[in-house]
Amino acid sequence: MAFADTLLSQMKGMLLPILLWTVLPLIPFIIAEQLRPVGQAPRLRDYTMNILIGISTAYLSLPAGIAAGSLSAQLRGWLPWTPLSFTFASVGMVPVVGPALEVLAMIFVPLVLHDFWFYWSHRLEHAVPALWAFHRIHHSDPRMNAATFGRDHFLQTIWRTFFSIFTLGLIVDLHLSEAGKAALYSTLFLIGLSMFYHSAIRVRVPGFNRLLVTPQVHRIHHSTDPAHYNKNFADALPIFDVLFGTYHSPGREEFPATGLSDFPAPRSLWSAQWGPVAVLWNMIRPRLTLR
Ligand SMILES: [Zn+2]
Ligand SMILES: [Zn+2]
Repeated sequence: MAFADTLLSQMKGMLLPILLWTVLPLIPFIIAEQLRPVGQAPRLRDYTMNILIGISTAYLSLPAGIAAGSLSAQLRGWLPWTPLSFTFASVGMVPVVGPALEVLAMIFVPLVLHDFWFYWSHRLEHAVPALWAFHRIHHSDPRMNAATFGRDHFLQTIWRTFFSIFTLGLIVDLHLSEAGKAALYSTLFLIGLSMFYHSAIRVRVPGFNRLLVTPQVHRIHHSTDPAHYNKNFADALPIFDVLFGTYHSPGREEFPATGLSDFPAPRSLWSAQWGPVAVLWNMIRPRLTLR
């Protein structure tokens, strides 16, 4: 009953934050994309489709997020090890720069853990056909734009976030209020960064290309040029691509075309969310009938 109550109250409370934190902030990016686009500027329907997919995915994947958190908390009592006790407040004790360091730690500690898991799950999605059936929805955007950041299938979001929430709770024992704050700060930072690097603005920030994912770095990941396939998987920190040998440094004028030539973009919300499930079913059905 507690699970259903938590789910219902979170569902009711999330529409306003979604609009405030993920739809309204798109406006300055949209203006910049119309004024200084890479190629043809995105159209209204390009934005609306991405926003619809993003909102439906947020709602459809919520139960898994709550389940991961509570399962992890329950399992903690059975662990043969003690989760690391960590407080961000200790970082804040450093003289003068302490408060700023504390906020930076709250953004970047969860981000490093998130990005390590994200890098490998994302790399697998490009290598395993059953996972690619879901992830190609993200890549199928015909005119990538700031709202593409939310264009993810709900089952892909569950697969990407379930294990990071689940495992984080088993490794680190954070105070609940600190964990909530850190999750909020790092999520807001990531949303802003992801809107920026998906945007179709012709902008170069070469000094940041290895530090944080930039529009040119992520455009390489969405590129139609085979030379760019399987490059730049990171969500925020390109260091993982550098470490694991998949980093492609964009050239000065490298703004390649994006999209997929062998898969048409879904034209409705239904085909975006249901289509990949049907593809997966068609993959496993022959195996089931053979037995
Ligand atoms: Zn990808
Ligand atoms: Zn992307």
